[in-house]
Amino acid sequence: MALSGLEIYKLLPAGSKNPAVKAHANCKECGFPTCLAFAMKLAQKQAELAQCPYVEEESKALLEASAAPPIRLITLSADGRRLEVGNETVLFRHEKTFFHPPGLFVRVKDTQSDAVDLATAVDRYAVDYVGRSLTLDGVAIEAAGGDFAATVAAIRTATSLNLILLSADPATAEAGLQAGAHGGAPLQGHGCLLWAANPDNWEAMAKLAAHYRVPLVVTAAPGDLGALAALADQVKGAGVEDLVLDPGTRGYADSLAAFTQLRRLALKKNERRVGYPILAFAGDDPILAGQHIAKYAGFIILDRFSPAVAYPLLVLRANIFTDPQKPIQVQPGVYEINNPGPHDPLMVTTNFSITYFAVANEVESSGLPGWLLVVDAEGMSVLTAWAAGKFDAERIAKSVQSTRIAERLNHKRLIIPGQVAVLLGELEEELPGWEINVGPKEAVDLPNYLKLKWG
Ligand code: SF4
Repeated sequence: MALSGLEIYKLLPAGSKNPAVKAHANCKECGFPTCLAFAMKLAQKQAELAQCPYVEEESKALLEASAAPPIRLITLSADGRRLEVGNETVLFRHEKTFFHPPGLFVRVKDTQSDAVDLATAVDRYAVDYVGRSLTLDGVAIEAAGGDFAATVAAIRTATSLNLILLSADPATAEAGLQAGAHGGAPLQGHGCLLWAANPDNWEAMAKLAAHYRVPLVVTAAPGDLGALAALADQVKGAGVEDLVLDPGTRGYADSLAAFTQLRRLALKKNERRVGYPILAFAGDDPILAGQHIAKYAGFIILDRFSPAVAYPLLVLRANIFTDPQKPIQVQPGVYEINNPGPHDPLMVTTNFSITYFAVANEVESSGLPGWLLVVDAEGMSVLTAWAAGKFDAERIAKSVQSTRIAERLNHKRLIIPGQVAVLLGELEEELPGWEINVGPKEAVDLPNYLKLKWG
């Protein structure tokens, strides 16, 4: 657990009980005027412990341990696809934010004749959501009695996906690892996660993970978190640092309880043995997958690929893993919709992404051309921005002038959102010579409004 500035101070020379060490207190060699000032900078992660040459070994170990993230960051990186999970610092999103969205994987079996086709479909699937391209992260290839190595090699060649290899048999797992790289070379490094080390095979699996430098999932009897922590510690002792935990639970309640306890132990009790991301099996149940996204999986394996399931899960994930204190924004400026000409309507809205896309999508799908002036309202929606003084007549007028949109038009008419009709009078004062029109309150009504009122 991270230490406060004062707790760090007590571990520095100024807080030492050793007179020889304490003699260096406030010596300024670290570049700061006092040990306390250095401690405060360390707590804010704006200084390095190595800057003080006089910290005692015992204190150094404590300080280094406290500086490590409570949940280890695990990275998978195949060609062009990078997935980072872990490094989370809070139990609840509103406390700060969740940083790394869980990877969504689809399970294929080495006995399926269409395994490569399925993986290719997963690889190609992408949806646009408020200007972002959302994609799945990989496939989990299960050794189910077929030709595991050939399936891994074929999928690796056909796609750029990250892989999870599902085999508890070390010989089969090694065959998959050998086959899992382009060009037939053994897979070394990233882009692959190996499932799983259990109490029976952990030594052999740990050797494989260390040799092929891949992260390793550790699993124990369902819900037995004590056994899971002990096994993770053993595997770490065998030289594998990058671990992922599978507590063996597969249902709603048992998974929620186990995942929450693991997160609490890692964050609140500083239990390093469980300070790793969690892997979850969601089966064929999108609701369970949604629960895992919210609490607290790092990798989620779905049994089936379906766009109808993938889309809502990707959107849910995107929403939960946005910073609640930083609204998603688009760049302020002028956006052209359906190749507008100088006679086409000019509308104005704020730079909150969802507001922008609601307006732009309605106009675009109507086929009507238009200009959309997006004002910097610090990422707030129309009414919120107006109430906060971020979307007022002055800002809109400045935006009209700074973008020089008038030079691209043969009219001076501006349509404002109906929600801020109250701005009409002030805008007429701020923009002399312009005609201000009050548009509909809802974006969905814009196409009809444009057809009826714009002529
Ligand atoms: Fe204190 Fe900085 Fe000197 Fe270390 S180097 S003893 S932190 S003043």
